[in-house]
Amino acid sequence: MNNRQLFLSHLAQTTDFPLMIEIERAEGIYMYGPDGKEYIDLISGIGVSNIGHRHPKVIDAIKEQLDKYLHLMVYGEYVQSPQTLLAKAICETLPSHLDNVYLVNSGSEAVEGALKLAKRFTNRREIISCVNAYHGSSHGSLSVGGNEIFKRAYRPLLPGIKNVVYGSFQQLEEITENTAAFIVETIQGEAGIKVACSEYFQALRKKCDETGTILILDEIQAGFGRTGKFWAFEHFGIVPDILVCAKGMGGGMPIGAFIANKEVMGAFKNNPLLGHITTFGGHPVSSVASLATIRVIREEKLLDQVETKANLFKKLLVHPKIKSIRNKGLMMAVEFESFEVLKPIIDRAIKNGVITDWFLFCDDAMRIAPPLVITEEEIEKACGLILAAIEED
Ligand code: PMP
Repeated sequence: MNNRQLFLSHLAQTTDFPLMIEIERAEGIYMYGPDGKEYIDLISGIGVSNIGHRHPKVIDAIKEQLDKYLHLMVYGEYVQSPQTLLAKAICETLPSHLDNVYLVNSGSEAVEGALKLAKRFTNRREIISCVNAYHGSSHGSLSVGGNEIFKRAYRPLLPGIKNVVYGSFQQLEEITENTAAFIVETIQGEAGIKVACSEYFQALRKKCDETGTILILDEIQAGFGRTGKFWAFEHFGIVPDILVCAKGMGGGMPIGAFIANKEVMGAFKNNPLLGHITTFGGHPVSSVASLATIRVIREEKLLDQVETKANLFKKLLVHPKIKSIRNKGLMMAVEFESFEVLKPIIDRAIKNGVITDWFLFCDDAMRIAPPLVITEEEIEKACGLILAAIEED
């Protein structure tokens, strides 16, 4: 059996129509098939390879760590410099009171940790999240998701969860002194890149302060430079109580974190109640990769280039079939008339060598979230291939 046959016969599937692109090697913005076919990865492996695939500094850091140790002990027992140095580096990207980092394995696990921590700290049970939010696929993170279709089969989920409309000032009134946490993606990703205004975030912050509600910002997609600031909340003049990140954090390795101040995080320490336990959380190899990722974002001044690159996409992607482009930095949704129009365009673009996608809760928009290291020439090339795919109809 060849690899494609093995994929279908032995690998559990998540969809009836997997992309099934076979990749043998990846580097920078490019991925290559076994036949040498070149693809531009315009979605960064779904928001992961923000600094490109196999960045040399990430590879070097991993190689160095491989000669020291892999896994030693459950998270939070031994002193391991990959974890301590990473925690310090993350805190240096944040306002000073966000000074305590809990390292985990993935986005969903980070959300789980954040929700549990908010309940523990406030001793409240109600959680508010947004319609069309995506926070992950585990039971807790799915419970705060905002799309009924995805949740239906798994009910009963966590009790006490209310969905409100992202960006609605009026629905902030739902936040009361019974609310443990309000969890929201700073920029809604899977909803198709929806961006609320600064006034909304400020009103949300104020309401949480007035009611003692923990504000959890999910920056699993929007963080690590994707929007042109290191953290997306920096655009809006607010700071969360708990920040959640993953995806781009590891430069291609699996890692996530939830971050709070010492007082909030301290709620997990009171024995005999279990806090959050993770065997592999903050894996040393992933931690050194993440530390290298932070350094690359800084050294290559990637944040400074995001707006110009996003504007170039917007300038080039002009076509009667493109209705609009929503974006915050290089987190972009290119809107078409319908999924029926978009799907064959995505298929042809892939054939032409450009990988894009749609969104979980928005199937009439093309996802564009390239590695931040993409050059202007590469943007021109990618947009040319997308426009060709639109024209081929
Ligand atoms: N939150 C957001 C905003 C996400 O985009 C994702 C992943 N798409 C998650 C949470 C879940 O992350 P993971 O797949 O690593 O569990």
